[in-house]
Amino acid sequence: MNDPDVLIVGGGIGGLGAAYALARRGLAVRLLERSPAFGEVGAGIQLAPNCTRILADYGLLDEARGRGVAPDAMIMRDAVDGAELTRLDLRDLERRYGFPYLVIHRSDLHAMLLRACERAGVELLTAREAVGYANTGDGARVTLADGRVERARVVIAADGLHSVARRLLVDDRPVSSAYVAYRGTTPASTGRAAGVDLSEVTVYVGPRCHFVHYGLRGGELLNQVAVFESPKALAGEDDWGTPDELDAAFADTCAFVRDGLSDMWRDRWWRMYDRDPIMSWVDGDIALLGDAAHPPLQYIAQGAIMAIEDGWVLGEHVARHRSGDGSVDWRAVFAAYDAVRPEHCRRVLTTSRAWGELWHLDGRPRLRRNVLLRERDTYDYSFVDWLYGPTALDPSDEPPMFTPVPLSSASGALGS
Ligand SMILES: Cc1cc2nc3c(=O)[nH]c(=O)nc-3n(C[C@H](O)[C@H](O)[C@H](O)COP(=O)(O)OP(=O)(O)OC[C@H]3O[C@@H](n4cnc5c(N)ncnc54)[C@H](O)[C@@H]3O)c2cc1C
Repeated sequence: MNDPDVLIVGGGIGGLGAAYALARRGLAVRLLERSPAFGEVGAGIQLAPNCTRILADYGLLDEARGRGVAPDAMIMRDAVDGAELTRLDLRDLERRYGFPYLVIHRSDLHAMLLRACERAGVELLTAREAVGYANTGDGARVTLADGRVERARVVIAADGLHSVARRLLVDDRPVSSAYVAYRGTTPASTGRAAGVDLSEVTVYVGPRCHFVHYGLRGGELLNQVAVFESPKALAGEDDWGTPDELDAAFADTCAFVRDGLSDMWRDRWWRMYDRDPIMSWVDGDIALLGDAAHPPLQYIAQGAIMAIEDGWVLGEHVARHRSGDGSVDWRAVFAAYDAVRPEHCRRVLTTSRAWGELWHLDGRPRLRRNVLLRERDTYDYSFVDWLYGPTALDPSDEPPMFTPVPLSSASGALGS
């Protein structure tokens, strides 16, 4: 086999998105996935306009819309009393940003990207586990677990939270949040699910826990996620996040939330890790992408989106740094990528952590938060403009961050 232009390690949403972005530019792309088959585990995923804008550019938005749901509103409620705190009007949001807010099954998004890669001629190989990376001077090589070696002009490592390639850049470890997520999908036409309004994405925020629900597959399925802080994780026990902890964590929440716990898959759960941001993802002709570069806590639902944006940004810079003979100035492409993406993703990672803290407040801080959220104007987009606008290609395109509102500014309303 000839060496490809680009070798991508990892066939998750990030790796497939990047493979498509580069193959559609006419590059020869080979993708290596460790698992014996391509697939995604999990349930729903939210796709904000900064992602659907890219899917539209790829010609995939109609398919995504057909397979997903475009809800009318995103509503935040207090998990203890069930009362509404604030909302986003997702129809108005679509008018503002030009692209919809969608929710879709992970496996549908993954399968859609996989098919797009097949159509674009990406060489998709499974059962290939990368264990080593090296720059060679005129490109880069990847060593596989079985001893084989793959070479290409550049390597993009999209090998997820436990990335091997990340060690080229930093000696760090995933950071445990001590939070754990349970997920579950149920047919939307029966039982409790039949009474749930699928035109809404709703998040119930509560002390050390939250609960999310929305519809999937054109409203056929109800997707629910229950997230909580594990006392066993805080105590340093290995066996953390077990179903008994799930039930205990939500004991003081409203009946609607407690009733939803019976719909959760109880045989698996996801411990929530992120990593501290790093400000360079490039080592010579090897670049990190997706969770390998910037695994977030999921609270602002941007992890897969950032991964898709990374691939799109690479594709756009390939188009900018290509000569008439088709050759690509990869040093320039990687420099442009490294100049713009790490700072954006640093903002997402740090905001996700802060957002989680805000959601999970207890006692008086919870009441202060509720006052502030109730005061927010539904049509105030100052907290999402930095996320949902067009993905920046240069640092100068990156929009300013929002100004945080201190919790203490709500104290007057509480009478303290
Ligand atoms: C509960 C929860 C809810 C979330 N909700 C959202 C949401 O609503 N919106 C959103 O945008 N994001 C969300 N996320 C985040 C999102 O799921 C991830 O950020 C995203 O899937 C990362 O994609 P990735 O391709 O970078 O990594 P991964 O999905 O981890 O894919 C990595 C791939 O690389 C392969 N691999 C790993 N090591 C090797 C190796 N050595 N050799 C070869 N292959 C290898 C793996 O098998 C895998 O296929 C959520 C996450 C969680 C946990």
